[in-house]
Amino acid sequence: MVTSQQLELLAPLAGVLLALDQVPDPVFSSRLIGDGLCIDPTSQVLCAPLAGVISNLQHTGHAISITGDNGVQVLLHVGLDTVNLGGKGFTPLVETGQRVAAGQALIEFDADYIALHARSLLTLMLVVSGESFAPLVPGSDLVESGQPLLRLQLAETGAVTEDQTGAAQLSAPQRLPNPNGLHARPAAVLAQAAKGFAATIHLHTAQSSANAKSLVAIMALQTVHGDSVHLSAAGPDARQALEALSGLLASGCGEGGSAPVVESPPLVVPAEVATDVLHGVCASSGSAFGQVVQMIESTLEVAEFAADSGRERARLQQSLADASVGLQTLCDKASGTAQREIFKAHQELLEDPGLLEQAFELIEQGKSAAFAWQSATQATSQLFKGLGSRLLAERALDLEDVGQRVLKLMLGMPDNALELPDHAILIAEQLTPSQTAALDTRKVAGFATVGGGATSHVAILARALGLPAICGMSPQVLALANGTPVLLDADAGQLHLQPAPERIKQLDLQRARQHERRHRDLQQAGLAACTRDGQRIEVSANIASLAEAEEAMTLGAEGVGLLRSEFLYLERSNAPSHDEQVATYSAIARAVGAEHNLVVRTLDVGGDKPLAYVPMEHETNPFLGMRGIRLCLERPQLLREQLRAILASADMARLHIMLPMVSQLSELRMARQLLEEQAQLMGLKQLPKLGIMIEVPAAALMADLFAPEVDFFSIGTNDLTQYTLAMDRDHPRLASQADSLHPAVLRLIATTVKAAHAHGKWVGVCGALASETLAVPVLLGLGVDELSVSVPLIPAIKARVRELDFTECQALAQRVLGLESAEQVRAVLQPLQQPMTELEY
Ligand code: PEP
Ligand code: MG
Repeated sequence: MVTSQQLELLAPLAGVLLALDQVPDPVFSSRLIGDGLCIDPTSQVLCAPLAGVISNLQHTGHAISITGDNGVQVLLHVGLDTVNLGGKGFTPLVETGQRVAAGQALIEFDADYIALHARSLLTLMLVVSGESFAPLVPGSDLVESGQPLLRLQLAETGAVTEDQTGAAQLSAPQRLPNPNGLHARPAAVLAQAAKGFAATIHLHTAQSSANAKSLVAIMALQTVHGDSVHLSAAGPDARQALEALSGLLASGCGEGGSAPVVESPPLVVPAEVATDVLHGVCASSGSAFGQVVQMIESTLEVAEFAADSGRERARLQQSLADASVGLQTLCDKASGTAQREIFKAHQELLEDPGLLEQAFELIEQGKSAAFAWQSATQATSQLFKGLGSRLLAERALDLEDVGQRVLKLMLGMPDNALELPDHAILIAEQLTPSQTAALDTRKVAGFATVGGGATSHVAILARALGLPAICGMSPQVLALANGTPVLLDADAGQLHLQPAPERIKQLDLQRARQHERRHRDLQQAGLAACTRDGQRIEVSANIASLAEAEEAMTLGAEGVGLLRSEFLYLERSNAPSHDEQVATYSAIARAVGAEHNLVVRTLDVGGDKPLAYVPMEHETNPFLGMRGIRLCLERPQLLREQLRAILASADMARLHIMLPMVSQLSELRMARQLLEEQAQLMGLKQLPKLGIMIEVPAAALMADLFAPEVDFFSIGTNDLTQYTLAMDRDHPRLASQADSLHPAVLRLIATTVKAAHAHGKWVGVCGALASETLAVPVLLGLGVDELSVSVPLIPAIKARVRELDFTECQALAQRVLGLESAEQVRAVLQPLQQPMTELEY
């Protein structure tokens, strides 16, 4: 008999019934998406196994989700790897949002075509909302379409009737603003928020669906920046859940919409690899000399079976609670937000319904708590590693870390009790975030790992601890004997196995000098940046907040050369109001002071930094799309409102407005017209200065035509380099080549300066090149008038200018313009940096 707490699911097809374990695809057989069964079809029409709403129909027609009014959600997936068919062979008969009856036809498919062109025709029916069920038909039986197959047990509290809740509800589709999709931290934020609602909630992508309360399931969706997602919810507070969670997704789930975080590998890659040097990628900069300590994690032995499943459940629950307390201590001790968030995400994993379900299910089957937990975490981490995503593979490490933490507690093993010698350079296949956070920095001088990436949590923690670190080393490193003296040069991504004593001394000396130099530069930060032969250059700050403006002024900034106004617009669900903008710009103008320039760059967002409240089409090449001034001119109201707020905030004498991504004269003219209109409407007698960023080669090459129509130029070398060299500025494998010291970029800077000076206009550089001490003599020599640099580097850049001779810089600039490559330019500049520094000490 079927009670109100039970629901029968009908066979969606005719065919042979198989257990999920027989499906040759770990995504399904691991049951991470949900438990269920598989049918090898003999019919060609997929039918609804229950009544409900179509919560997701993939555009390729090969998969469909139905949410019942009681919150039960079932995913039907026809064939394996059928997404690759791009819709061929499938005819959907229903639409997303449509209500369907049990047994109603959903998708027609051409079995012959699919069998020939895809990996398999095996069709999955998965209960993704996690209810337990009893099979009504034995495996390997032939079933008819519409025949009852599974009896679902609905949770007492979760069982809600149609009267109480109404039908399942769907949110509007939205694009993910997160630079790296919903990886661990934003996924944790979303799962946490979803858990605050009683409704059953699912997150859908074009390819798949996940329980929105499961961090692991969200991460397994493998979303990327710009993916279209929507939510479905069923239950008493479904509407509130959809509203709150859609807002959260739009705001990036607590994460900014900046460009993906990719650490640059070393800038100079040696042409030949010496055998006594092992290479990796810099995870945390610095250098250290010390002795090798191999970190080998012993495998934990666990018994597979246990007699008393009640006791095992309790054991696992206790260890999970203890692990959570341990992680809370790490959160409380953490010195920075990034560290805190890592351990918070680990706490989330401890409560993940997906993981817990797997583990408790195994305990019910007679396995020990330790075995069940180990199997659940290992299976999921293997799955993450096998999905072909670098970011998910890195997150697998977090999962293993949490797995070990709980396991050690269950086995009564002490955590990270490692006896270390002084100056230890730790070598490991992989360090976990927990191991890294627990390192004794009095003993550990740095570390090198085979696994991990510059974006891994271990790298973030290493930077927070100030430990030099390299990851992505060759496995050869694991063969080094304990005690071997090594020199870790993280900045160069090198581990020197037989470091010459001179090299060790040199790096030691360099570190000591850098330290002293920083101290001295700071003391002299208030002095002007004037070369030895009297050439003055302005050193100002790149800022994106009031706090940075205040800090910059205490570090000797002579104004703000670039206010990235995007910070006011990102990470929110509606545009900043006029008053809010005025309050922020005015506070920054006050901090900068009436005697210094304030250069406010108008909104520079677009396909790579989308705004939740400015819907945009997905772009294949967002860096070549509706970015910067193009977007603002297409939505002039956004620009008008920003200009009005800027004009109301500062004294015109020192206010400069700068337009990003300009490539056409017409863009400058249209923006000027909008500016003049606003000034007139506000009754202003004086206009601010108006300038453009030179960050597109077209603008640099036509600088002679732009110059008469602007008050100033500021060169954005970050974008100018990416567009000149046709190398994505965030591409990890091109990072070492996308070098702003490439002679092609330097020639465009020279062209710009020449054109500007011919018309009596000043030129600044606000791209990252201006913050490189190595580049200062070249930029000075090319005639640049202002360097706008990242705040902490202001004292160092000013000090570097004071060491130089302008006439020598001019000769140097002419020389490097004739070189062939960035490597050659660096090779010329490098020696100039050292002797001058040495002279000082
Ligand atoms: C640049 O492109 O160099 C620049 C300063 O702008 P952003 O880095 O903000 O794109
Ligand atoms: Mg730019």
